[in-house]
Amino acid sequence: MMRFFRWRSLTAFALAIMVCMVSSALSAADKGSASAPIPYPPNWWVGMHDARLQLMVQGAGIGTSETTLDRNPRARITRIVRGDSPNYLFIDLQVAADAKPGDLIFRCARKDGIASLRYPLLARAADSAQRRGFDIRDVILNLMPDRFANGDPGNDRVAGYAEGADRNNPGGRHGGDLRGMRDRLDYIAAMGYTMVWPTPLIENAQTEYSYHGYAATDLYRIDPRYGSNAEYRDFVAKARSKGIGVIQDVVPNHIGDGHPWVKDPPTADWITLGGRFEPTRHGRTAVADPYAAQVDRDDFTQGWFVATMPDLNQQQPLLATYLIQNTIWWIEYADLSGLRVDTFGYSDNAFLAEWTRRIREEYPNFTMVGEEWSANASVVARWQNGWVDGKPGMPNMMDFPLSETLRTALGEPGNDDAGGLRRLYEAMINDRLYHAPAALVAFEGNHDMPRLYSVLGENFDSYRIALVYLATVPRIPQLYYGTEVLMTSPTTRDDAATRRDFPGGWAGDRVNAFTGAGLSPRQAEAQAWLRTLLNWRKTASAVHGGRFLHYLPRDGVYVYFRDDGKQRLMIVLGRNDKTVELPLVRFAEGLKGATGARNALTRTPVALGKTMTVPAHAALVLDLCTSSRPC
Ligand code: CA
Repeated sequence: MMRFFRWRSLTAFALAIMVCMVSSALSAADKGSASAPIPYPPNWWVGMHDARLQLMVQGAGIGTSETTLDRNPRARITRIVRGDSPNYLFIDLQVAADAKPGDLIFRCARKDGIASLRYPLLARAADSAQRRGFDIRDVILNLMPDRFANGDPGNDRVAGYAEGADRNNPGGRHGGDLRGMRDRLDYIAAMGYTMVWPTPLIENAQTEYSYHGYAATDLYRIDPRYGSNAEYRDFVAKARSKGIGVIQDVVPNHIGDGHPWVKDPPTADWITLGGRFEPTRHGRTAVADPYAAQVDRDDFTQGWFVATMPDLNQQQPLLATYLIQNTIWWIEYADLSGLRVDTFGYSDNAFLAEWTRRIREEYPNFTMVGEEWSANASVVARWQNGWVDGKPGMPNMMDFPLSETLRTALGEPGNDDAGGLRRLYEAMINDRLYHAPAALVAFEGNHDMPRLYSVLGENFDSYRIALVYLATVPRIPQLYYGTEVLMTSPTTRDDAATRRDFPGGWAGDRVNAFTGAGLSPRQAEAQAWLRTLLNWRKTASAVHGGRFLHYLPRDGVYVYFRDDGKQRLMIVLGRNDKTVELPLVRFAEGLKGATGARNALTRTPVALGKTMTVPAHAALVLDLCTSSRPC
């Protein structure tokens, strides 16, 4: 056990001032020194919707103290709870509705002394509660911070952290960081992205695989190999100034086995299965299946992902509150625009309902997207549509069913009467299941999947079709870093290959995708084309909210329309090897008499007579001419 730190005798205290000043700065700076008690969250704010606050104070022997709060107008203690470990104390507070910013002073007394703890209640940023999340007007970029750009070689190795950067180790850290991301925001903005989702940046003081980010060892601290909490906040502010929101990747389901909770859990039931590793069988249908046995539901939510990621027991109310407050703290502290929630359904279901409710209660216009890696739309829909006693569900979900269909459809030979484009057409029937299909996030790839370009057999035509589809269907599109320069990987899962360094992110890189130096002509073409597509999409009101009307693919051509009354788009996706003349009479419902159009990306005119000429491997976005939008 750690020694009891800096407790002073009562007489000494009577003479003196604060012994132990605890603030967010100190908690970060002194972490690991086995010293001062640390409060979690490290601060809070006045004027929150929910006036309750629960502090977990962590420190050697803190749980044996009698704790009081100095008389003040801001908050009062409503309850004190001791954990099973003596090194934690939970303090429930009620913050006054009209509280002004300022510090709370706690006195923690034991027979051998007394310590004081200063706790800041800060003012909220203006309009924080009304912050807007992401929606269908946005395009999300998923990147891995360790693999994107190394802006600060000085943090490649940090004392006290087992892993340092080694670019020759495919599964190790490579040195990318927050400064690298911040310095490349102009590139990200120019590409047309409006949201960036970095994989987790919080501390992963694990002995290996720490770049991955999903094995947290401190839920309140940015990993110093990426930068500091302040640098994260600075990155978010800089991004916002360039029109880019930041989506934080959060993991309520599990932690890393290097987290202090593993050796010293606050309560005996903090980790599932009594802290014993038992792998989940990933039976994700069980939690919604009306016929499932309880043992299988429990296996899904209580089984561990892997041995190095202990599963959190969110049925433990102190832990549930900790996790809810942790998420709200990051939204408020860092000024986030959204959350991406890892392994969503693996958490306790009742907890997820409450976690979602509390966040939405604080931030009614905020959005968050859950990961439920199932190709079964019924499984995904269940989360969006609600699950416990009719409570609202997760507002956004990752659309794995449609995204996997997209990759499969365009990765197989073009028999479009059965597979191929026909798959895309038939996938849309699933929208019957969703409460809000346009709030789903569809994607071409992510850090867990083989690269799109490789899945498509490095076929540039199929690549363009896939991305036009993603940009124009009623979904929020999400792309993966490097897709714009045709990065490749094996077509079976190979994490190291899927997460290669972005070219140009490291000093001395032979190829630099930020400047274009060294890109092949095809890569440069892809990058310029995607930049045009995504920037056009920002202005396309019919994509953002228009009706979707589509036609059964025939003769290798899939046609659909988007129409919001102001803009009418005709999207033509074709997989024929040669030019075909497409009869248009069948499309009268979508054309509404239009006889002309412009290619939305090149602005060249397109004639629409009894037929239209569809080039080989077409990925056409046509802006139909109307009386309000003449050609
Ligand atoms: Ca670095």
